[in-house]
Amino acid sequence: MRYLITGGAGFIGSHLAEELLRRGHEVAVVDDLSTGGINNIRHLKTHDRFHYVIDSCSNVQLMAELVDGADKIYHLAAAVGVKLIVESPVRTIETNIRLTEILLSLANKKKRPIFIASTSEVYGKSQEFPFREDQDLVMGATTKGRWSYACSKAIDEFLAVAYWKERKLPTVVARLFNTVGPRQTGQYGMVVPNFVKQAIAGAPITVFGDGKQSRCFTHVSDVVRALIGLMDNDALYGNVFNIGNNNEISIGDLAKQVREMCGSKSEIVYVPYEKAYEQGFEDMQRRVPDVSKITAAIGWKPSIALPQILQDVIDYHRRA
Ligand code: UDP
Repeated sequence: MRYLITGGAGFIGSHLAEELLRRGHEVAVVDDLSTGGINNIRHLKTHDRFHYVIDSCSNVQLMAELVDGADKIYHLAAAVGVKLIVESPVRTIETNIRLTEILLSLANKKKRPIFIASTSEVYGKSQEFPFREDQDLVMGATTKGRWSYACSKAIDEFLAVAYWKERKLPTVVARLFNTVGPRQTGQYGMVVPNFVKQAIAGAPITVFGDGKQSRCFTHVSDVVRALIGLMDNDALYGNVFNIGNNNEISIGDLAKQVREMCGSKSEIVYVPYEKAYEQGFEDMQRRVPDVSKITAAIGWKPSIALPQILQDVIDYHRRA
């Protein structure tokens, strides 16, 4: 199979590319290196089934050619990271909506099956735990930049589902819950690489808010397995799936666990949200997935527990 991965030099995209190559497929990657990095794919560049283009997915002519040359598409290119989103809401909204529109429209011309990456952020302020794909989404005010990410991704989801319903374009959507692993950078606000880097450096570990908010972390290799399983099954088009783990941990406890696993003496400091992000910032207090839909569909379950996930990230940053 020939796969096209947009955002393929990103954290998740590069792991997906690697695994598809390992399974004997041909992989083309397009990435503008805005949040991804050439280092993520450097080791793949000599592979004879690997091709890459450094450009934006907004280059419609290029994307038309790449879509034409692919059997299936993974659209992962997006503005990600809470810090980036709060600092650059225009870029977030425009990138996330425009690129998905372009990819879906081009995929539709050739009727190429396409996967659209979404996020657990779309559940917003919902208090119905664990989150199920068919429950209501609860968005915050439009004056709070954070929620623009959730809304832009929700629009992407609506569009993907609409293309399937109205035009019979094979689309699949997945909502990813805090994916972590080697190659993820803490530059755009992701908590695990940030804490690990701080702990290794002996610098203060910065817990935002009171640290009682919690998350569930999934290893990138589990996520990649789910992404491949979803696109390998023709019966799943038009569906939305959660991909996540239920290893819930508070951010305060995560800071302690990372510090301990690193053998670090870092101080744990609490930073008010308005200092970390912006005045009036609203966090999600909990984010727990129900994965029964994807388990029933393809038998997928997360296989890597939190201590192993953290150890992998620690080893990666120590080597780096
Ligand atoms: N967070 C933190 N310190 C950091 C980065 C993030 O305490 O250096 C918190 C953040 O406020 C949130 C959680 O960790 O409550 C997860 O943040 P992340 O940016 O990784 O992703 P999110 O789940 O918010 O999309």
